[in-house]
Amino acid sequence: MPASLTELESQRDALLRSLLSLGDFRPGSISTTSGRCGKPSCHCHQPGNPGHGPHWRLTYKRRGKTVSESLPDEPARRKAEREIAAYREFQLLSRQLLDVNLAICRLRPPAAAEGAGGLKKKRFAQSTPRSTSRSGAS
Ligand SMILES: [Zn+2]
Repeated sequence: MPASLTELESQRDALLRSLLSLGDFRPGSISTTSGRCGKPSCHCHQPGNPGHGPHWRLTYKRRGKTVSESLPDEPARRKAEREIAAYREFQLLSRQLLDVNLAICRLRPPAAAEGAGGLKKKRFAQSTPRSTSRSGAS
């Protein structure tokens, strides 16, 4: 059985409340680089050297361009992880919010959506006496 309008509206309220409590969020992915760099004179090219890193980076797209930020330490990395997790939550919530709104739009009758059900009735009531008076004159 499909959900009623009231049920859907309370679902939408709950989703909007969840969105409000999201906190900081950003898209992106965290990756790590380690190993040898491009400088042949660097210590990382000496035999037995474990190389650089690991260096953590946050990468994301902004206006079609890939942006990369370095995450210098553990707190910075954990902060970015929290922000990315919140962004996933945001995406999930906005998809659900869209679905609920689609269902609401489908269910809501046109008169209720206008919020002026009385307007049509008034217009209809005005046209009725005119037609009766015309028919009475002929
Ligand atoms: Zn190096």
